[in-house]
Amino acid sequence: MVFFYIIVGMLFGSFFLVVGMRMPKGESIITPRSHCEECGHVLKWYELIPVLSFVFLKGKCHKCGKKLSYLYPTIEIASGLLFGIAYLVYGMSYELIAMMIISGLLLIIFVSDLKYYIILDEPLVVASILILGFKWYYFGFKVMVLSLLSGLIVFAFMYIIKLVGDKVMKRESLGGGDIKLSFFIGVILGVQLSFVALVVGSLMAFPYAFYIIFKNKAREIPYGPFLIAGTMIVFYLQDYISLILKP
Ligand SMILES: [Zn+2]
Repeated sequence: MVFFYIIVGMLFGSFFLVVGMRMPKGESIITPRSHCEECGHVLKWYELIPVLSFVFLKGKCHKCGKKLSYLYPTIEIASGLLFGIAYLVYGMSYELIAMMIISGLLLIIFVSDLKYYIILDEPLVVASILILGFKWYYFGFKVMVLSLLSGLIVFAFMYIIKLVGDKVMKRESLGGGDIKLSFFIGVILGVQLSFVALVVGSLMAFPYAFYIIFKNKAREIPYGPFLIAGTMIVFYLQDYISLILKP
């Protein structure tokens, strides 16, 4: 069954990638069909098999030889793993469906931020409402309100970091999208674990930042994908992390 969910996750992964690539540009998600960005070659069904196609095509468009983005297999594998882990943790349940949806929404943001430095509002709103709804349904109104407050606290914290950062660096230090994303992190993890996620995400961002700033002379890096990775890691390991945090 875990294997089945990994496969389903990989198939959905291709879809999340298309949404993340097209939604920020205001393009339709359904048409045109998946094609090579370079020569417009419409991909056949056997060129659309997650991961396998990428391996068989040796990471190139078979018509024009243009290199395909490593984002394709990366997102497909990440999606497969997230679906598989969600099944392992929750079994057949509503939580499983919720976590599959949330994983997808986060992967969409992951792609759009990495590619265009845009963190879409819609997936964040839907994911936050889903989590708050679940907290209310399973743990009561009080817990839901606490989650909401946690979101606002983490949001405010990041906003202050941005204000200070902007002053010190004399330019935009954190994007507005990163701060909105922090609200969701607070909602799903609570205040304490959110800070763990922020640290984990930042630690992962550092090597990438050094690489991209020195190699491409870039002036900004997408922070969202690292925050999302940190959040998912902390979310699934929270029981172990709580043990360390408790006296
Ligand atoms: Zn091509």
